[in-house]
Amino acid sequence: MSCLFCKIIAGEIPAEIKFQDEQVIAFADINPQAPVHFLIVPKLHVENAAELAAQSPAALSAVFAAADQLAKAEGLTGYRTVFNTGADAGQSVFHAHLHLLGGRGLAWPPG
Ligand code: 5GP
Ligand code: ZN
Repeated sequence: MSCLFCKIIAGEIPAEIKFQDEQVIAFADINPQAPVHFLIVPKLHVENAAELAAQSPAALSAVFAAADQLAKAEGLTGYRTVFNTGADAGQSVFHAHLHLLGGRGLAWPPG
């Protein structure tokens, strides 16, 4: 098994875990881009969000529910969720994951 996030799910690589249930794990990003920057990761190994939607709509829904729950627990009044899909969009880990960003003003266009 060479997938980094599968190794975190299996407990083989440590992470600052924020939430976990049957379908989802959430942990702090190692290189945060905002005061709150968590990764919400389905336990099912799929490459990206579209694959997750195709293979398990329930898991995709659980990912968004966990993100909203964590945002509320962090006291965020607004937050951004991002799925990067493909290397050209900045995806570097090919196990689907939703970025949850907040705790500072977030610019639009993204910044
Ligand atoms: P992507 O670029 O694929 O959208 O997001 C991958 C994210 O995983 C990046 O924001 C990166 O900082 C984070 N990341 C990479 N390696 C690790 C790690 O070993 N532990 C944690 N917690 N995050 C990681
Ligand atoms: Zn994986």
